[in-house]
Amino acid sequence: MIIVPEREIARLVSAVDCFAAVERVFASMAKKSASNLPVVREAIGHVDAIYGVKSGIDRGGLVLGLKSGGFWPNNASRGLTNHQSTIMLFNADTGECRAVVGANLLTALRTAAASAISIKYLSRPDSKVLGIVGAGHQSTFQLKAALQQRAFEKVVGWNIVPQDLVRLEAVAAEHGLPFERVDLDTLGAQADVIITITSSFDPILRAGQVRPGTHLACMGTDTKGKQEVDARLLANATVFTDEIAQAVTIGETQHAVAEGLVDASAIIEIGAVINGDHPGRVSAEEITLFDGTGVALQDLAVASVAVERAVATGVATTVDF
Ligand code: NAD
Repeated sequence: MIIVPEREIARLVSAVDCFAAVERVFASMAKKSASNLPVVREAIGHVDAIYGVKSGIDRGGLVLGLKSGGFWPNNASRGLTNHQSTIMLFNADTGECRAVVGANLLTALRTAAASAISIKYLSRPDSKVLGIVGAGHQSTFQLKAALQQRAFEKVVGWNIVPQDLVRLEAVAAEHGLPFERVDLDTLGAQADVIITITSSFDPILRAGQVRPGTHLACMGTDTKGKQEVDARLLANATVFTDEIAQAVTIGETQHAVAEGLVDASAIIEIGAVINGDHPGRVSAEEITLFDGTGVALQDLAVASVAVERAVATGVATTVDF
């Protein structure tokens, strides 16, 4: 069994690798050659932690495995990341454990890749202003990946705790872009692309705040009850997602479906756009919304890259198991 520790991931796998791996597996999901299995995600009744297991099988690449972990809200006070994740890969022919991979950075990179993929396929090519709602740990990853997809000229940001926007300001500055702290009306009025990446349980962005032609990547809602945007916004948008089953249960779409504003049959898997089976955005006036719920196959795809690279570069530790 191969072990790839968390500390090695940064030099083994890049954001570009993760983009390619996630794009490939989204396409496989839409072709039904890769499937996610039912998600377990529960409060464990200890230190307010939410623990879960996500698993899946990519029959094309023969990648079978799971990601286990979740959210420990008090970790920051211990100098640890609140999100903690470990991936296990299994031999799809025999069920034997093939690898254990530290998955904190991989989770951040695969989540950023998902919103970047949605921007590549769904945003207007002439998008100039990028809006970010949220300024936590994940936000800088989303911003960096998004900046690779369009020739953005400015970044505008809003966060419930405004001082945390300093993180996004620093990334924008690294890329030579101006950054403005704005209210939500201004963000919606200026942004061509909006990424939401918060832990909110109430809608932040209202339908009337978003202009025609905007692309939204809603990335924070990955649990029942969370919500980042007004459900009516989804009713006005063409809704895309990584996986429909997750979108309607734990994703941003859960609320619009529950309120009868969106029918599950109208939601499109982004993989269908990647495969060329759906045109994606069809007009410059359309609002497109990607509900990025975060699927196991994203995790397994990027972990496979980490394992291949670790073996190739001699970084992997191999143990009898
Ligand atoms: P974090 O704790 O570092 O940051 C949370 C962010 O949400 C901060 O900007 C905070 O100010 C904001 N926030 C908290 N409560 C809010 C509220 N009531 N209203 C508005 N804003 C609020 O977390 P993170 O690592 O940046 O992750 C952000 C979210 O993304 C989490 O909900 C996490 O579960 C989710 N996530 C989703 C995926 C996916 O694949 N879809 C992957 C990783 C994380």
